[in-house]
Amino acid sequence: MHKSADQLRIGGYTPLTTIDYPGELAAVIFCQGCPWRCAYCQNEHLLDAGAATPYQWPDIRRHLEQRRGLLDAVVLSGGEPTAQAACLQVAAELKVLGFKIGLHTGGAYPDRLRQLLPLCDWVGLDLKTVPEHYDLLTVTPGSGARAWQSLQHVLSLGIRYEVRTTVHWHLLSAQRLLNLAEQLRYRGVQHWAVQLCHTDQGYSRRLPSNVWTDSDRQFVLQQIAPQFAHFELRE
Ligand code: SF4
Repeated sequence: MHKSADQLRIGGYTPLTTIDYPGELAAVIFCQGCPWRCAYCQNEHLLDAGAATPYQWPDIRRHLEQRRGLLDAVVLSGGEPTAQAACLQVAAELKVLGFKIGLHTGGAYPDRLRQLLPLCDWVGLDLKTVPEHYDLLTVTPGSGARAWQSLQHVLSLGIRYEVRTTVHWHLLSAQRLLNLAEQLRYRGVQHWAVQLCHTDQGYSRRLPSNVWTDSDRQFVLQQIAPQFAHFELRE
C-alpha cells in the first residue's frame, strides 16, 4: 500500500553536505526508525520508530523547491529509510523536483528496496558481516537474509552503489572480514568501503576501544583491497 509522502516520519535534516552523495552537493533527510540494534550505531535517537519527530515533509519539500539549481541531490538516510512505505512517495516527489536521489540503507526491507531502487541514482548499502553472523550483530533474527537479498537487488539493477562495512574487531574478526570479502567478490561486488568503527560515538560507547594497528591496515590493504576494482579504507 502506498502512503502519502506527508506521512514520512523525519527525525533529522541536513540542508547541505558534500560527503553523503559522492561528488554531489546534497541535502540529507534522516528517516525515523530502524528495526535493528547494532552495537556501533551512531544514530541512537533515530532508532525508535514511534519517537516524536521534529520535521514535516511539506516543510522540507518547500525548502528543497527553493534549492533547485543549487543542490544536485537529496539523500534518504536514517535510521532505515525503507522501513517506511512513504519513502516511495517522497522519492517520487523528489524526482519530479529534479533532484538526483541517493539512498543510505542497511537493506532491512528488500521488497520495498526493490520498489525504491528504480527511483535512486546512487545507493550506499551498509552490509555488516557474513550472513550467518548477521543476526548476532544486529540483535535481530532474520536480518542477514534480508540484507543479503537487498545486496542482490542492488547488484541486479545495475545502479551506482557502494557497499560499506563498519569494522570493530570485537564484532568482526580479521578472519570473518576476509570471509566477507570473498563472499562479496563472489557475488560480483566491485565497490567496497571498509570503515573503522569509532567507539567514542553513539551506541558504540558500549564497546571497548577499537584499536587498529599498522599490521591490521596492511592486512586489509594487501589481502582484501586487491580483490575489488574500487576499495577504500576509511579511518
Ligand atoms: S542498521 Fe544502521 S541505523 Fe539501524 S541500528 Fe544498525 S547502524 Fe543503526
